[in-house]
Amino acid sequence: MKETRVRFAPSPTGYLHVGGLRTALYNYLFAKKNNGRFILRIEDTDRSRFVEGAVENLIAALKWAGLEFDEGPDAGGNYGPYMQSKRLEIYKKYSNELIANGNGYYCFCTPERLKELRDEQEKQKLPQAKYDKHCLNLSKQEIEENLKIGIPYVIRLNVRPNQRIIFDDIIRDRVEFDSNNVDDQVLIKSDSYPTYHLANVVDDHLMEVSHVIRGEEWLSSTPKHVLLYDAFGWERPKFAHLPLLLNPDKSKLSKRQGDVAVEDYRDKGYLKEALINFVALLGWNAGDDKEFYYLNELIEKFSLERVNKAGAVFDLQKLNWLNAEHLRKMNNQSILLLLRQEILNSQFATLNLTDDYLLKVIEAMKERVSFIKEFITTCQYFYTSPIEYEQKSVDKNWKPETTQQINHLRGRFTSLDSPKKEDFESALEMSAEELGIGKGMLIHPLRLAVSGQSTGPGMFDLLFLLGKEEVIKRIDKAISILG
Ligand code: GLU
Repeated sequence: MKETRVRFAPSPTGYLHVGGLRTALYNYLFAKKNNGRFILRIEDTDRSRFVEGAVENLIAALKWAGLEFDEGPDAGGNYGPYMQSKRLEIYKKYSNELIANGNGYYCFCTPERLKELRDEQEKQKLPQAKYDKHCLNLSKQEIEENLKIGIPYVIRLNVRPNQRIIFDDIIRDRVEFDSNNVDDQVLIKSDSYPTYHLANVVDDHLMEVSHVIRGEEWLSSTPKHVLLYDAFGWERPKFAHLPLLLNPDKSKLSKRQGDVAVEDYRDKGYLKEALINFVALLGWNAGDDKEFYYLNELIEKFSLERVNKAGAVFDLQKLNWLNAEHLRKMNNQSILLLLRQEILNSQFATLNLTDDYLLKVIEAMKERVSFIKEFITTCQYFYTSPIEYEQKSVDKNWKPETTQQINHLRGRFTSLDSPKKEDFESALEMSAEELGIGKGMLIHPLRLAVSGQSTGPGMFDLLFLLGKEEVIKRIDKAISILG
């Protein structure tokens, strides 16, 4: 059996699209599942789209997501270079081969002529503009003459009319195209760079790619690729075209309806575990209802046969749900590392917070948050005394008699010696009894006094975490403001 070799072959646009992450993930899973190799190849032959730093961003985003590649620009491998812009000589050699065997030809048509042709075809309402093979009829002599005097040219694929182009796709089964609908694709541009089609096929062959797994938007390019494999006399790889990603209204996923860059999700605080889990489910399921997966489980379960043909809807609510689920299942030490990062980027960067304290905050809040940053934003009271008190709760819970009652409770607290959670609790019970009121009459205003809010983690956990001194300070502050 041939080794499984798959590749993720992005054109560096400046960011990693979530659709790209899904393609990369499926390739990665397929490689790992089959003991194969996962290759990163950078398809950067469109010079007009060059973006400074794009390749670095892309690699950083893949690494953040945990999709390590076995071969690629900064991982090495025996099939490099892995950047197409460094392989120009190779494409030249193969395009010459196509010219020699009649499957490719020089085209010297000017942009003006091509435009006229397009306009004319548009007028005739042809389904798509196609080159008219004008230059296929040039004599050898004319071609040599044109080359000698330096007339700009491109090299085109010579598509024979009236053929059925047939190939198998693991997801879509048998696919057929009529060659009359396939244009004589430009393979080498006038700047002597190859187009995607030529470079892609040559590289997949030379890199011994066994399976081409990519988005459905490339399905219409595949007949051209198949013709190229045949023209070179090369074995075709197996193809698998992944379903489109859709907005909830079933339109194609677009920037206009939300974030599409992996970096945006990362910067918004989504966990890589959740994002990976989420994109894995965009077009694939294991055949049951299970939705929560770690990467290693996905490797075990994944198969291309279970990828759907139908477009996959990008449901942000599901991503949010998965984020909360993954956060809840994460161990506290790992959360601590991420939380420390968040704190460094927050207004509390300069606070001296011990690991012990933060781990307790994590324990108290874990079931109540969906994002790491919510360990700060939803419970600022763990980091600073309240600046504001929730008005609704003040109106409801801070009655004229409350100040005196809370003062009584304060007295009980002051006499405690290094109180634990239970000590705070019994002090409050005693105070309520002495005052002849229900515990709730103390608990609600006390929560308001120490946190400024009406909800939060268990009251006595909170008191214990803050510690006696801080609790008393906060009671005094609340009384001075609310009393
Ligand atoms: N360079 C293409 C892209 O940007 C690759 C398509 C393929 O995988 O063949 O997605």
